Amino acid sequence: MAAKDVPRILDALKPLYGDGAFPGRSAEGLSPKWPNDPFHVLMATILSQRTRDENTRKASDALFSEFPTVDALASADPERVSALVRPAGFPRQKAKALVECCRVLRDEWGGEVPTGTEDLLTLPMVGRKTAACVRAYAMGIPSVCVDTHVHRISNLMGLVDTKDPNKTEEALMAITPRERWMDINRYLVRHGQEICLPRKPRCERCPVSGHCDHFSSRA
Ligand code: SF4
Repeated sequence: MAAKDVPRILDALKPLYGDGAFPGRSAEGLSPKWPNDPFHVLMATILSQRTRDENTRKASDALFSEFPTVDALASADPERVSALVRPAGFPRQKAKALVECCRVLRDEWGGEVPTGTEDLLTLPMVGRKTAACVRAYAMGIPSVCVDTHVHRISNLMGLVDTKDPNKTEEALMAITPRERWMDINRYLVRHGQEICLPRKPRCERCPVSGHCDHFSSRA
């Protein structure tokens, strides 16, 4: 498989998607009430797992209105948290993880979110995608955050040939200059939400169809 020109593809998507995606945010930005700091981004990214952005926003708004800090959430009753985050689905599982996560941050990290991937991976419900999103969006550390859209579109286009999102992350990092790593999630998530839809991609409207193996295989 010939390597694709990822920066060129990202450049072609940029005019459509501007600042791009963000866990729990719309194109216009999340609820402007909440800061873009590691605590809020980590909690919102955990809530965003297996749900849609609008549900993440509702759950985040309810959660942060009542528990706006690591300390507050570390001391919260998981049953109460579960009621607040219900819009995001899997409320008991997510509430337990959020409270436990904040207890670890409070007790082991002085109330701060660690910056290292391996340290982040020790937190409940934090996998590589969540760790990369927090590092990229809250800490500004170049990372490739591979969600379902990034994994699916990268394979459809032929940027990578992988079954496992972790392998997609590695493969994308290998073919993309580090300074563009964060653009991958920004633009491919929006592309997956607006044009390269999971069930029926709107290829006729796609500005990167000339780089796409799926498109050329249909011709
Ligand atoms: S051409 Fe179609 S399948 Fe390929 S990236 Fe664009 S919308 Fe997706």
